[in-house]
Amino acid sequence: MRAPVNRIIPFSNVDGPGNRTAVFFQGCPFNCLFCHNPETIHLCRGCGVCVETCPAGALGFDGDGKVVWDREKCVGCDTCIKVCPHDASPKVRWMTVEELMQELRRCIPYIDGITTSGGECTLRNEFLIELFTEVRKLGKTCLIDSNGSFNFEADPRVLAVSEGVMLDVKAVEQEWSDTLISHPRELVLKNLDYLLGVGKLQEVRTVIFPGRDRENAETVRYVAGHIGPTCPYKIIRYRPFGVREKYQKLLGEFETDKEYAERFAALARELGASKAFVV
Ligand code: SF4
Ligand code: SF4
Repeated sequence: MRAPVNRIIPFSNVDGPGNRTAVFFQGCPFNCLFCHNPETIHLCRGCGVCVETCPAGALGFDGDGKVVWDREKCVGCDTCIKVCPHDASPKVRWMTVEELMQELRRCIPYIDGITTSGGECTLRNEFLIELFTEVRKLGKTCLIDSNGSFNFEADPRVLAVSEGVMLDVKAVEQEWSDTLISHPRELVLKNLDYLLGVGKLQEVRTVIFPGRDRENAETVRYVAGHIGPTCPYKIIRYRPFGVREKYQKLLGEFETDKEYAERFAALARELGASKAFVV
């Protein structure tokens, strides 16, 4: 079994508690307007646009017409990402669990655990189960960073081999959700309750957008009313960096003001989410 790995960050202190290795998988069923890494949304379609433009000759085709990336030649300029018309990346490695473990073992002595992210890592559920099983044998923790599109109640096996999920609740109000994430939000909200109920909700995150008083407040009220005092609630300021230009026009070309975001953290705490804080 292989899974498409977009990137591995050996040491991260923003992907869960402690020092962690973060593994980003390629592919996501959502198309969030505010996505900071839109090149992780789709798998490469082999159109070849990036192959033509790579200044280092690091991209080519294999015999089956698939794009091949030469890591040794790559100079990391990201021209390929900028020119891709399909929100994809040619710099993806289809790795086995063992290949990934070989890279992780170098970090293991220095980390508390790993966090899998994306894209949406739960698209690779079977791979995660195998990966987490191996990581846990080394005494390290495993966290899932998820958009909530996976039905954890229907298939809880990955929860049994992990510490739990850091869940994005991006939008609650229907129209705003349809606009923002282009995906039904019902399963996300169901996962919020389910994960909380089984003790596997590690953290909830909501992005606060400038000037969206009603939409921001509805999401924060909903989450705070559900999670109570024990679960950390990260109120994230919207930042336009990395967001596709056409969507910056809709969402805002400037980051959310800190004081504005603090208002929503205060609201969450008033409603019982004592561990709400702004980042
Ligand atoms: S980042 Fe992309 S375009 Fe730049 S050298 Fe590497 S493969 Fe080529
Ligand atoms: S990464 Fe994008 S531009 Fe490059 S071949 Fe794939 S789909 Fe085309």
